[in-house]
Amino acid sequence: LEPAHSFMIRTRTPGGVVTPEQWLKLDRIATTHAERGLRITTRQAFQFHGVIKRELKATMQAINAALIDTLAACGDVNRNIAVAANPHESSAHAFVHAQAAALSNHLLPNTRAYYEIWLDEERVAGSGEEEERIYGETYLPRKFKIGFAIPPYNDVDVFAQDLGFIAIIEDGTVAGYNVTVGGGMGATHGDAETYPRLANAIGFITPDQLDAIAEAVITTQRDWGNRIVRKRARLKYTIDDRGLEAFKAEVERRAGFSLPPARRFDFVHNGDRFGWLQGHDGLWHLTLRIVAGRIWDREQPHLTGLREVAKALLQVEGSEPAPAASKPAASKPAASKPEFRMTANQNLVIANIPADQRWQIDSIVASHGLGEHARATPVRLNAIACVALPTCGLAMAEAERYLPEFLTRFESLLDIHGLRDQPINLRISGCPNGCSRPYLGEIALVGKAPGRYNLMLGADHRGERLNTLYRENIDEVEILAALDPLLAQYTSGRESGEYFGDFLVRTGVVASKSLPLELVA
Ligand code: SF4
Repeated sequence: LEPAHSFMIRTRTPGGVVTPEQWLKLDRIATTHAERGLRITTRQAFQFHGVIKRELKATMQAINAALIDTLAACGDVNRNIAVAANPHESSAHAFVHAQAAALSNHLLPNTRAYYEIWLDEERVAGSGEEEERIYGETYLPRKFKIGFAIPPYNDVDVFAQDLGFIAIIEDGTVAGYNVTVGGGMGATHGDAETYPRLANAIGFITPDQLDAIAEAVITTQRDWGNRIVRKRARLKYTIDDRGLEAFKAEVERRAGFSLPPARRFDFVHNGDRFGWLQGHDGLWHLTLRIVAGRIWDREQPHLTGLREVAKALLQVEGSEPAPAASKPAASKPAASKPEFRMTANQNLVIANIPADQRWQIDSIVASHGLGEHARATPVRLNAIACVALPTCGLAMAEAERYLPEFLTRFESLLDIHGLRDQPINLRISGCPNGCSRPYLGEIALVGKAPGRYNLMLGADHRGERLNTLYRENIDEVEILAALDPLLAQYTSGRESGEYFGDFLVRTGVVASKSLPLELVA
């Protein structure tokens, strides 16, 4: 007998788009091989938790048979690329998604290991024949994250990404992207050498310059990044150590062109838009609230319900099953067929639905308890939590499992102050690594020890200002006691339309940590 090791598997799903056929396969994998259903991550990927060791290979092969792979979903390479979640609102959105998916493929490591280890394509040791053009022999110093935002929505929190692209849309088409570098959420408790950081805009590119600029940024980080001190190895520290201007100059040299100034844009918020929305082509999209991204049949039959939705989508005219394949698939570009889109806020869009099919989706949603989007408070709708305990080995405190409980108590406090309908962004992380992007929450709990958190306050609703440490290492009673008087002050002293985080900064409760450099030319 050997110990019953279990594993987490994370998919690479650029922009978080899967077909109904793929959904059914993922559902089957979750019910056959995993313990806790499907989980949507904050990078629009799926995670399967509790896959036992002897079923690893079968699970990987089943994922691959769904035309989805796990290649570079972890490790010191470019991770799953995040993309604004509703790309069919205009042709510009579809264009951005297609570019992001192509970039994800372009940045895959040139390795056969995935195919050899998991898909039985023979050789399992290094041959020396693979040339790794982008990552080199040593790969990157640390993981690398890319996000595409489409103003006015910053649902991917583009300033939290190592490399960000903000689409600039002119006359309904994508004129290009503002390029941002150096964002990142991770930190270590009590270590001032580590910190969350918002990205800086370094200029503007046209769509045809996307691959070149991404390669230039990544290879500069590959060569300049800190390989001595791993906790200082992310791009944000490289930029702070070398200087933004020097970094930008090196990127321009490698790309072979100069970057003109970033262009004007405006974000209005960094959350999702729930309920039905109509796209540019007349099709409809339904965004469902998925608490902490967890889809399983526990209190409510959510996994079953979405299985029924997937089956219904297959019946919708224009939907077609995906063919089987033995190699990781190129991600399909957005198309006007029914599909699922995960959001970077852990929610789910049922996309491209003809008007006369909406009733069918609504019926399944209602009968399977998936209608939280229609009844939850704004704070509940927008809250994010990382997975933390029991499956993340780095967790210091609960996050996903604690979120519903904390929300209920926090909502009671909001009731006392007449703030039940006030949108307040709440984020909980089980440790300071920040997978739930907690430093961009108006209120954030960052795990310190079981039942104890650092209380962070004061981010904005656009993902353009970090929060600040307000109280350290406190329990739930102390957290609610700390928030109580602040909510009272907010109720009586807020300006018209002023958000809680903005109020806390304006009144000096916490310091402002807005974007450090001018964003707009
Ligand atoms: Fe990420 Fe830390 Fe949460 Fe684990 S506990 S998921 S490492 S933030």
